Amino acid sequence: MMATTSTKDYERLGTSREVIVTRKDLPLHCPTDTTALWCSHPRVFLPIDSNDGASYRCPYCGTLYRVLG
Ligand SMILES: [Zn+2]
Repeated sequence: MMATTSTKDYERLGTSREVIVTRKDLPLHCPTDTTALWCSHPRVFLPIDSNDGASYRCPYCGTLYRVLG
């Protein structure tokens, strides 16, 4: 019997990751320098607002970035 491949972990990672960034991190790119290797993809710049509380979800890995401070 073959083990079934579960996408559950991937989905969880894709919907629950949230990263707080500050204006100093802008322009924002993903993956960031601190992003774990397992969710890396070709680096892309994200057109996130610099307003406090602005958020933007990376279309590649689903990481939600939120601007604070
Ligand atoms: Zn990403």
